[in-house]
Amino acid sequence: MRMSNGLVELEDARARVLEHTRLLPAEEVPLADALGRHLAQPVSAPAPVQGFDNSAMDGFAVIAADTAGARPENPVALRVAGESRAGRPAGRRLERGQAMAISTGAMLPEGADAIVRIEAASVEAETVELTAPVRPGADVRRAGEDIAAGEQVLEAGARLGAAEVGVLAAVGAGEPACRRRPRVAVLTTGDELRRPGVALEPGTAYDSNSFTVPALARGAGAEVTSVGWTNDEGGPTRKAIARALKADVAIVCGGVSVGVHDHVRGALAALGAEERFAGVALKPGRPALFATAGETLVFGLPGNPVSAMVTFVLLVRPALIAMQGGAPDAHRIAALLATDYAKPPGRAHALRCSLELSAGGWVASPAPAQGSHVLTSMLGADCLAIVPSAATHVPAGGGVEAELVADALAGAAP
Ligand code: AMP
Ligand code: MG
Repeated sequence: MRMSNGLVELEDARARVLEHTRLLPAEEVPLADALGRHLAQPVSAPAPVQGFDNSAMDGFAVIAADTAGARPENPVALRVAGESRAGRPAGRRLERGQAMAISTGAMLPEGADAIVRIEAASVEAETVELTAPVRPGADVRRAGEDIAAGEQVLEAGARLGAAEVGVLAAVGAGEPACRRRPRVAVLTTGDELRRPGVALEPGTAYDSNSFTVPALARGAGAEVTSVGWTNDEGGPTRKAIARALKADVAIVCGGVSVGVHDHVRGALAALGAEERFAGVALKPGRPALFATAGETLVFGLPGNPVSAMVTFVLLVRPALIAMQGGAPDAHRIAALLATDYAKPPGRAHALRCSLELSAGGWVASPAPAQGSHVLTSMLGADCLAIVPSAATHVPAGGGVEAELVADALAGAAP
């Protein structure tokens, strides 16, 4: 829905992006490389985990009934009959009056129903002496206590973190089917931009979006296939964008506004891209635009360093996650604003905030400087608190929705 000021509401912009987002194909990924990927299919355990009754302790497998009468003044002596080691089951049955040496994780021999811890046994030659009874089941881990045979352990779309890759390994899934990573091309624009490391001439500035935007894209699971730059001329802008359109997602930073040297919209039109919206009721981030060119999603993000990051988090990240089958809204929380906030109606404000847990819930404290050029306001930001476009005032302690960004800002290796 377009508002009277010609801008699209943030929620509508986001919905429109997701509407044009397609699921990427699945591919099998060696488990060691699967961190950060999203599962294409649910994963179930073909067999129980663990696969057999086993010992939780180093000690002796026994028949609990044999130990029933054990007292300090009346010890029970059991004859040691073999050993069950981790990975090397004894392969024989435990008979009455016997104990079998056993290691943590080793298979419980048939006939045994309890473990006597090594600390509770005195061993002499071929005999173990016990001074206390053990109850049936003591220190025995039953087959399937963690995962039952056939049980689904992870859903389609699940993002694979350390715990998830561990569980996949535990069920033997060595090459899980994952969504392909979205291929992202990043293009920055601006005559004034210089690579960090070179000397600045008057009127020039370092290109930070070439670093923040690829970092954010990788953090959202994307493969960044190119990071380019173009000057503020129509022809070169068109050529550079044409190259970027080969990716699944092209992200152009800067030059998306209405200035005479802003060529991105014109270039996209010339290239036959279909503009889906241009202008979002959002501060920072008003000039953000979204277009499609065939299957390629094209985002035009404002050049201001904070605006680029904020619009990435609110509009591009959900698309990248959805393309991988993940939940695009998984990063939303409810929070209380720490301080009074007043603004004119017409645009939603995305406030860079730190988060602290209070008795009443998460409290979001806005960074003191909220200008779209104040990149340092992103340092230590935990969330973007969203003050809705129609709101003119949120009192201290008032409820807001917040988009968690700490993960997004943490970065990820290419
Ligand atoms: P633009 O969106 O091109 O009008 O740029 C808005 C502001 O953001 C200007 O002050 C630009 O110098 C600045 N800017 C644009 N691109 C970048 C970039 N890649 N890195 C840092 N600042 C930028
Ligand atoms: Mg510019």
